[in-house]
Formats: sequence, C-alpha cells, structure tokens
Amino acid sequence: MPTAYVLDFDGTITTADLTTELARQFGGREFHQIEDLYRRRKLGMREWLKRMSAFLPADWELLKSMALEWASLRPGFKKFARHCREQGSPLYIVSDGFGFYIEPVLEKLGCREEITAIFCNKAVVSGENKIEILSPYAHPICTNCGNCKAALVQRFRREGWKVAYAGDGNNDRFGAAWSHYIYARDELAEHCRNHGLPHLIWNDFEDILAAEPRRESFAHNPKDSPFCRPQDRGYLF
Ligand SMILES: [Mg+2]
Repeated sequence: MPTAYVLDFDGTITTADLTTELARQFGGREFHQIEDLYRRRKLGMREWLKRMSAFLPADWELLKSMALEWASLRPGFKKFARHCREQGSPLYIVSDGFGFYIEPVLEKLGCREEITAIFCNKAVVSGENKIEILSPYAHPICTNCGNCKAALVQRFRREGWKVAYAGDGNNDRFGAAWSHYIYARDELAEHCRNHGLPHLIWNDFEDILAAEPRRESFAHNPKDSPFCRPQDRGYLF
C-alpha cells in the first residue's frame, strides 16, 4: 500500500510556531491567560484561534512580513520532500494555525511546489475590520479543533494510503493517533508516550529519512484512538 505523508506546519516544517509567535506578539498579557486555559484543556484550539485572532491587526502586509521574517525550515525538509516525490508519495500539510502565511513562507523558502495539498484554516477580515479565522475542514459536530486533522487522516486512509504523520504539538495527537506511522517530537511525543502509541521520536527530517528502512518496527494499524472519533462525535471529553 503506498504511503501519504501528512505533516503539521508550525514547529514541524518550520522551526518556530508562527501562529503562537504572532499571538504572543499582539496578545500581551491575555496571550498567557488564553494559553494557560488551552494547556489546562479548558478550551480547544478552535476557541484559542478565535480569541487570539482578535488581537491581530487587520494588516496582511505587516502580519505576513513578520511570519516571513521568523520562518525557517527544519533541517532536512527539502531532502525529505524530494524523497516523497521520488517514491510517488503525496505530501500533505494539515495545519490548525492562522494559515494565511503558509503559502508565502513555502514560496519564500523555495518548496511550495513540493507540497501536494495544504489543508488549513482561512483568515479573513470581518466587517469590524478584525481578523477572523474560518475553518473549512472543521468537524461537523465537535468544536474542539479548527482543522479536524483526525478526519483528514481518516479520509486519506479511505483513499487507500498508509498514513505517516509528523508533528510536534498538542493537537497533533488527534491526527497522529489514526495514522499508521507516527513521527513525534515535543508535546506530541509526550502524548504518544503517555497513551502507549508506537512512535518514532524525531528532531529533524534526517531522522525520519534514516528511520524509513525500519519503520515497520513502530507501525500500528489503529482501529480506535484514545483522543477522538471523527467518524462519530469527535473529541472524547
Ligand atoms: Mg505544530
């Protein structure tokens, strides 16, 4: 069965989490309060995005220029993307951040053409001249995430792919848990460890490439997830 590579963007393809950095830049003290609620699971990513995006100025040029200035690729990404292309594997980005800077960052860093498709939220300017985040890939019932990465992973599986998921963050656990191969760092690695999900700890894309020949040693074929059921009501409260 061929493999589709599904990658988070912030803190995975890029070294910095650009959504968090923009929120921190403009959110001031309230950034820490909202972040704390998120960490304590008092609110999900969709609500986080709604509250944090309210702090952003409705100035695309300014926001994009900041994201472009802060963005750098995690080492080995271009080599990894070439590997995907050579073996005929699609490379999908699934992001639950502000989204608007992903294409410009990929263009600037010279790897937009390596990406098969981008599934992310959409930032628009609302009537009150405020930034608002729309989530075209949200779950129809569950309100926890903006972008339902778990449903996207299930969709790729239904299309006949083995899914290899690489991520770093808290809400990557939803998509990763439904994937056949998990490449986890930081908070995602913690979730995998705590819930006994087989995974490979990675630091950069060279680690993922180096583990390719032995990936069956950390493979699994999930029939369920400790985190959510996108085919049902979503997040398991
Ligand atoms: Mg991330």
